Amino acid sequence: MVILKTARELAAMREAGRISQRALREAGKAVEPGVSTAEIDSIVRSYIEKQGATPSFLGYGGFPASACISVNNVVIHGIPSKQQILKNGDIVSIDVGAHLAGYHGDNAWTFACGDVSREAKALMDATREALFEGIAQALAGNRIGDIGHAVQQYVEARSYSVVRDYVGHGVGAKLHEDPSVPNYGTPGRGVRLMPGMTIAIEPMVNQGRHHVRVLDDKWTTVTADGLLSAHFEHTIAITSHGPVILTSPD
Ligand code: MG
Repeated sequence: MVILKTARELAAMREAGRISQRALREAGKAVEPGVSTAEIDSIVRSYIEKQGATPSFLGYGGFPASACISVNNVVIHGIPSKQQILKNGDIVSIDVGAHLAGYHGDNAWTFACGDVSREAKALMDATREALFEGIAQALAGNRIGDIGHAVQQYVEARSYSVVRDYVGHGVGAKLHEDPSVPNYGTPGRGVRLMPGMTIAIEPMVNQGRHHVRVLDDKWTTVTADGLLSAHFEHTIAITSHGPVILTSPD
């Protein structure tokens, strides 16, 4: 069931979103060669807790950390580790959620560690742009398929592929609500978008084929072909005057 939010709830979600975005930015500033992914996770956790919020992902379904940190061929759900030291040229996808006063914000960004290859940069740029192509379709009266189609078109025109096995989602009092928000779709199909809907749009884009597999730790999701993957996400609200990014720093 899709839950529509009131203006008061949207204001609360904007606060949770702001903290999520600022925590993500703090994480991004820490991305450099020689830093462990566990150090970045602890920056995220302490930032969120200092704001009086709680990390949405910590303990969610048993996830053991506050941020998902997914390096290079890891698509999503990478588990931060003291043993994983970032190297020059890595691309580092960080997914962060914060829960405040009953609501979640959820966002992700892929950061370059030092100097990345031209190919890696192009993949990151395309994934970020695809997110904004999707957001531009998040209009009252459109349908979920319009968002997915816009993302997919943009990505496939650049010979990349969109991950099928994981999708965006509604966000609110729960981290994952209806509807599902796939990064592929048919224009005019799916749930109709209405003011008060709050959704996370989150293209996961692979350099090669779209297939993924989950490692033995039951979380880490990697590209089946071992090529790179990037991930960008915002939580947005559908309003009568267009999409509003809730995971905004101000
Ligand atoms: Mg999400």
